[in-house]
Amino acid sequence: MKHLVLLGAGHAHVQVLKRYNELIRHGALPPKITLITPHPRQLYSGMVPGYVAGHYALEQCVIALEPLLAGSSIRWLQDSVAALDAANNRVTLDDGSVLDFDWLSVNTGAVQDRQRLELLMPGVREHGLFVRPIEAFGTLWPRVVALAQSQALRLAVVGGGAAGIELAMAVRHRLPGAAVTLLTGGALAANYPAAAQARVMEALKNRQITVLPDSASRFTEGEVMLASGARLVCDVPLIATGAQAPGWLQSSGLALDAQGFVAVDACLRSTSHPHVFAAGDVSSRVDRPIARSGVYAVRAGAALANNLNAALSGQALKAHQPPVHTLNLLSCGDRQAVASWGPFSAQGRWVWWLKDRIDRGFIRRYQLPDHQG
Ligand SMILES: Cc1cc2nc3c(=O)[nH]c(=O)nc-3n(C[C@H](O)[C@H](O)[C@H](O)COP(=O)(O)OP(=O)(O)OC[C@H]3O[C@@H](n4cnc5c(N)ncnc54)[C@H](O)[C@@H]3O)c2cc1C
Repeated sequence: MKHLVLLGAGHAHVQVLKRYNELIRHGALPPKITLITPHPRQLYSGMVPGYVAGHYALEQCVIALEPLLAGSSIRWLQDSVAALDAANNRVTLDDGSVLDFDWLSVNTGAVQDRQRLELLMPGVREHGLFVRPIEAFGTLWPRVVALAQSQALRLAVVGGGAAGIELAMAVRHRLPGAAVTLLTGGALAANYPAAAQARVMEALKNRQITVLPDSASRFTEGEVMLASGARLVCDVPLIATGAQAPGWLQSSGLALDAQGFVAVDACLRSTSHPHVFAAGDVSSRVDRPIARSGVYAVRAGAALANNLNAALSGQALKAHQPPVHTLNLLSCGDRQAVASWGPFSAQGRWVWWLKDRIDRGFIRRYQLPDHQG
């Protein structure tokens, strides 16, 4: 029997797991499947700002793996991949064990490369609170809330992308007594149209968040040095800078793009190793650029499940064609949100309501015990 190994339980793989679970329950003969991922749940990043703001408990923002594996023969190894040898069909795990595969699918997401960031911003490893891995951030956040009970905190969010913006406003809502600064490095919501950028800027201003178009250059105890030479007093620097490709891909033998992400074709298949697939933030389409976002990772899930199934049964693969524009919803902390779709944007409580519905709906798809039927 062929062995399919799934690396990571990201947004696409939870759909692959659900699909295989359903096929198994309907009597299909599945391949031997092993899932390698370090946590028994997937913390859904889209709801993390709502968790930070205090709208959700952590448990409401997670997709538990257990229901996706229950009643199936899918084996779960609670570990992380440390190395991949694509030519010899082998992965090495953090605990040193080695696993052979016939087919491989990678959905491990992007990382915040501590080593690289330390070179750019000395002291960040010791003093920064990183938003990735998101599971670790989710666990550590209550400590910041507890700290805020005993002192008036000064928080700096480093990163002017969607995550940094949403987190700054979420922190403001949760910790009304804290001083919140957003360091954008000169680019605020750079991937958004001008109208949405203006709405975001206004929203930050209205919430008394200091927006500095400056970059962090060094971190020490209680202080962030800025590229301009200024110093910012700061108790908690929250690091929401862009994410990088995982380092273990470098020696994998897989074709990678210039930033080190797995190069895949329109069928989500490695351009160098046809028995390897990749989806979500860890991958990079060679035929057309696709933004790294949870929205696109989710959309890749059904196509990945179809193509893995087709490849393993010797059928033709189908190209995955995600839409050019997606609906992006940025929460503003206080149950308000900004929406953008292509050049259009809007904001208000109704946008938050919509985001809340979409996010809860996504989680619910994996929580319902419909596999027990
Ligand atoms: C605070 C925050 C808010 C965000 N909000 C949004 C939003 O509202 N909308 C949006 O579109 N995007 C949002 N994003 C971006 C979004 O999180 C990512 O684009 C998305 O998570 C990518 O999904 P993925 O499936 O590729 O990987 P991930 O969601 O990162 O999943 C990776 C999986 O692989 C596992 N894994 C990691 N390393 C290994 C390893 N070495 N071995 C085995 N398993 C491993 C992880 O545990 C996890 O299960 C946000 C990001 C952050 C930080």
